[in-house]
Formats: sequence, C-alpha cells, structure tokens
Amino acid sequence: MRKPIIAGNWKLNKTIKEAVDLVTLLKRAIRDTQSVDIVVCPPFTALSQVSEILLESDIRLGAQDLYWEDKGAFTGEVSASLLKDAGASYALIGHSERRQFFNETNQSVNLKTRAALKAGLTPITCVGESLAEREAEKTFKIIEEQLAGAFTDLNAADAQKVVLAYEPVWAIGTGKVATPAQAQEVHAFIRGWLKTRFGADAAKTIRIQYGGSVKADNIAELMREEDIDGALVGGASLDAQGFSELIKNTQAVLLSAR
Ligand code: PEP
Repeated sequence: MRKPIIAGNWKLNKTIKEAVDLVTLLKRAIRDTQSVDIVVCPPFTALSQVSEILLESDIRLGAQDLYWEDKGAFTGEVSASLLKDAGASYALIGHSERRQFFNETNQSVNLKTRAALKAGLTPITCVGESLAEREAEKTFKIIEEQLAGAFTDLNAADAQKVVLAYEPVWAIGTGKVATPAQAQEVHAFIRGWLKTRFGADAAKTIRIQYGGSVKADNIAELMREEDIDGALVGGASLDAQGFSELIKNTQAVLLSAR
C-alpha cells in the first residue's frame, strides 16, 4: 500500500562532474523507476546540473538541508524555494550529522519541515538515537521527543506528505546495520506514535525509511519488515552499480511479496 522510497544521501561528496557522471550511470542502470520512488541528494552545488540530467527520468532530486526563511539577510543559507528553483522536490531535514555537528534541534527540524511543506518540497525528516541513548534504554523516549518536535503544529494532511527516516546514529557510516527486528521495533513504535497523533489513516500512509549502513546485500531482509518502507542510504549511494543493485533488490522483495 505504501510505495517504498529509496534515497541516496551523497553528503559532502562529488564535484559537479562526478555528480553528473553518477546520475547518468544511474539512469542507465535503473530500468524500473515505477515500483519504488528513487531520490538522489547531491551537494547544493550540483543540484541544478543533476536536475538537467534527470529531466526525462523518474529519479527525483533532493537537497541535504534547507533554511526555513524564504529570503533575506541569512548569509550562507538556502531556502526551500531556491531548492525548488534548482530542480529539487525533496529535502533531507534533521539528519543526525546536522544534529551532531551543526546544532540542529528538534525546533529547527520543525521549522525546516514546515518550510519544506509550505514550498511544496517533500521533507525526509530524520530521527534516531545515539548508542549511549540506546544503551541507557532511552531509544523510545528520544524518538518520541524528536517526533513531537518535528511534527509540532502540523495537521494530519501535512503530516502525510512527510517521509520519515529512522536512522540509529550508531549504524550510520559504521557498517553496523540494525537487525531487521531492531529496526522494525522502532518503526512500529513510530507508526504507533503517528496513529495516536494523527489517526489511523494518516499513520498507515506515512512512509518510514530505515537508514544506517544499508547496502545491496542487506536491503532485502529490512524490506521484508512490515513497517519499513525503504531506505536512506549514505555510502552505498555513491556508486552507481551498488546503488542500482540495492534498488533492484528492493524491487525483487516487492515482486516476491505479490
Ligand atoms: C546516511 O547518511 O543517512 C546513512 C544512513 O549513511 P550510511 O548508509 O553510510 O550508513
């Protein structure tokens, strides 16, 4: 019922030429772009040129962050409308690296999520606990606080336009993927929270990606879990062969479930 969504977060990687080369290869390698929504998130500098390569493709473009004000004296910031102008239709918000290194807070995640929605961008809003929080058995408390922050002042109609990404911080870039059961447990918790906050219909519609060391060879077992609706992929999205294989393996799970 929920269409899976796989997004590649390229982080601080790829020159304009490298980015153009990578999407050109991806376009050739991914034949089926219908069964799964596919998004690539290059650095800001490459957005516009990548968007030209993607013009006749169903692969969508995302930014890695945005600022909530639309224009004005905010040196160094990029607004949702400028991202749309550069061809983006998605934006990552509240990635743990931004929370950890750039003072992103639950409140700024909310402002950014609302700004994205207002401009017609789909926010991919990230939540996730650190290793210390997991070990202190605070995972659900932290996720709940992050969700409550991110969704402040949103109604059910807006909430349904958000894609959530559950990314345990201890699994990002570490090669330590959460087990499917560990991921499913938190995804089910998130869906339960969404149901309480926005009702059963909205909770059933909202897609929740898993992120944290997802690769071509572990996506299938994650995708078989009921509440996992795709993946946010860092390292494995930087190479066309690995990322297209990951997408094919996602599609294979959908076919086998029919
Ligand atoms: C990420 O950057 O969101 C991520 C999940 O990275 P990786 O896949 O490299 O762990």
